[in-house]
Amino acid sequence: MNKQTEELLIPESKQQSPPESIAQMVRRMLLMIGEDPNREGLRKTPERFEKALRYLTGGYHQDAEKILNAAVFNVCYDEMVVVKDIELFSLCEHHLLPFFGQCHVAYIPSKKVIGLSKIPRLVNMFARRLQIQERLTSQIAKAIQEKISPEGVGVIIEARHLCMVMRGVEKQHSQAVTSAMLGAFRENKQTRDEFLALIRANKT
Ligand code: ZN
Repeated sequence: MNKQTEELLIPESKQQSPPESIAQMVRRMLLMIGEDPNREGLRKTPERFEKALRYLTGGYHQDAEKILNAAVFNVCYDEMVVVKDIELFSLCEHHLLPFFGQCHVAYIPSKKVIGLSKIPRLVNMFARRLQIQERLTSQIAKAIQEKISPEGVGVIIEARHLCMVMRGVEKQHSQAVTSAMLGAFRENKQTRDEFLALIRANKT
C-alpha cells in the first residue's frame, strides 16, 4: 500500500489536515469496497460524484418564496388547474439512491393563480433534496396552499425507487403512489375524481 493510499484510510478525526471534501470521502469509500481509486476509469470519479451530488441536492439552496414570488397573478378563474406528468427525479434519504417518475399537481384557485411554468420548478426544488416520497408529495401541496390559499390542492406522485427495483426481481416493476389532498380535494369526492380523470386521460 503506498503512502497516498494509507492516508486515505485514516479517519478524518485523526488527521491534522483541514476537513475532507466529499471527493476525498468518495476516494476512501472506493478503497473500502475493494476498488483502486487510482485506476484510469475511477481517477476523476470522486470529483464527478461530488459535482453530481451537489447538483442533485441543489434544492437546499432554493426556496419556494423566490420561485413563486414574481409568478402569482390575480384572476377570476375558479376552475381546476392541472399540471400533469411532471418528470421527477429525487434521492431517497434511506439509501441515497434515485427514485423517479411523474408528479401531477392540481388546484382550484381562489382569486390567485401561479404561473404554470413555476409548478415544475417548485416540484424540482423539493425533489432535489434527500427525500421520502410521502414528504415530497405533501411539501409540494403545502407550498402551493401557503402561497395562494386556493380552494384546494391535490398532488399525486407515481415513482419507481432504485433501492426497491434493483434489489429484488419480483419488485422490478413496482411503483409507489402517494397523494396529498388539501381543502376541496380532501373534502369533495367529485373534485378528487375530476383530478384523477384528468391525469388518466390520454394515458397509454
Ligand atoms: Zn430507499
